[in-house]
Amino acid sequence: MKKIAVFCGASSGFKSIYREKAAELGNYFVQNKIAMVYGGGKIGMMGAIADAMLSKKGEVIGVIPHLLRHEEVEHSEVTEMFISKTMSERKVSISKMVDGYIALAGGFGTLDEIFEALTLGQLGIENKPVGILNTEGFFNPMLQQLDRMVTEGFLKPENKAMLLVSESIPDLIEAMYKYKAPKVTKLVNTVGS
Ligand code: AMP
Repeated sequence: MKKIAVFCGASSGFKSIYREKAAELGNYFVQNKIAMVYGGGKIGMMGAIADAMLSKKGEVIGVIPHLLRHEEVEHSEVTEMFISKTMSERKVSISKMVDGYIALAGGFGTLDEIFEALTLGQLGIENKPVGILNTEGFFNPMLQQLDRMVTEGFLKPENKAMLLVSESIPDLIEAMYKYKAPKVTKLVNTVGS
């Protein structure tokens, strides 16, 4: 994997551990010569990982929609910045560039981006690994919701299993390297019908 998309909060969260883990992932990327593609912000979790990488001369590629290009949020020191017309166009640009996706703690934007990547995988439009770094079990309630979707017949177990989860950065990256996409037999992927 040469380029990985990172989706994470525009906020920092209340606990420092989330920003620390973002910086740790950034350092891991630099050590392993992996470039990051991300939302292009300098604030919150996005800023924490970008700054950690840039301080060690890592490769950071931002894709920011025009409407978010306010001086205060756009990172001015990234290796390369692409400007998209819309939020949707940004997701398409990011997906074309990367070999896989990782989500860190975040809010609506983070969930939107990671679930879009999973949906593309579920439909067989992409077969890239999607992982979440589950710092302090941050995503556990969401994972319970996914289990509920499986038991209620809205999500196939093999599709739920596409989402790779770990609290450890090396373990998550290793799982991403080993990832094999599930076979898609039908484009409309229904359960129990
Ligand atoms: P959220 O998880 O709601 O904080 O949203 C963060 C995600 O949405 C990031 O991965 C970004 O791609 C995008 N995003 C939200 N706000 C901004 C911002 N101010 N600057 C750049 N990207 C943002």
